Amino acid sequence: MNTLEDVITIELPVSETLKIKRNRFYPDNATSLEGLKRASIVTGTHGDELEGQYVLFLLSQWLRQNSHTIRGIIDLYPALNALGIDSITRSVPFYNVDLNRVFPGSKNDFLPAQIAEGIVEVIAGSALAIDIHSSNIFLREIPQVRMSVEYAPQLLPLANYMGIDFVWIHDAVTVLESTFAHAMNTRGTKTLVVEMGVGMRVTQSYGHDLLEGILNVLAFEGLILRPLKARKLPITSEKGEVFYLNANASGLFVPALEHSQRVKAGEKIGQIVSALTGEVLEEIFSPANGLLFTLREYPIVYEGSLIARIFGGQS
Ligand SMILES: [Zn+2]
Repeated sequence: MNTLEDVITIELPVSETLKIKRNRFYPDNATSLEGLKRASIVTGTHGDELEGQYVLFLLSQWLRQNSHTIRGIIDLYPALNALGIDSITRSVPFYNVDLNRVFPGSKNDFLPAQIAEGIVEVIAGSALAIDIHSSNIFLREIPQVRMSVEYAPQLLPLANYMGIDFVWIHDAVTVLESTFAHAMNTRGTKTLVVEMGVGMRVTQSYGHDLLEGILNVLAFEGLILRPLKARKLPITSEKGEVFYLNANASGLFVPALEHSQRVKAGEKIGQIVSALTGEVLEEIFSPANGLLFTLREYPIVYEGSLIARIFGGQS
């Protein structure tokens, strides 16, 4: 069974209302939801990231068709930044504030902080949460889970059932404490952040893969009754080094390879060319054998623009 609800309602100036919607799935014929384990699957923190929209469509469709398998509460939040998703704006419109930089938020602050506070309030108490992001319009990411080293011991066992290739574990220094994931992890909700694909686009194959991964995690946690697929131990960033490749010239970036998984040291990643002069301004090569997990999607680059990220360290 499922119920659609507006879980957060905030009156806006100019007689409009901000509503954050939830689709709650629970066992067929449940008389009470008390004591049931709860998972929250969220996306749309950044309104220009649409890969999660497709994933939540697939998940919602699956849960509707397989409602007899549901053993707990599974909450779907397709648009945490509802105004942003409505207008395909990355930040919270009118405030130009990144919603993922104002957690845990506050009731007595400006609108983005009120939204964040409402989200934490509603989702707190979930045993686990999955927060789906899709990079931005500039970079394409292979499906990956990101987590802080602090919570890796609790989160890695879950990520191992997600079926992804790469887990990027951030050290304590680089962890942003103002994110949804950090706010929820500190409140005892095991929260995985998934990054995949590219902004303003849907990559169907990634969506179907992530659906399988989420279902497997839900089965592992006992929220749905479904044969558990074997763990697939991802490569974790602790065992090597992440290389950042930045442009040294401004121009048109032309990739030399697909956003493939593996590259060799010295392999050409792409080149930056000039449309005016016909010159090749820069050729970019991989510094190591590794996993090409981020690749420039947006073709115009400037000096310093990020072209690729490669995880080297495991053959
Ligand atoms: Zn994002």
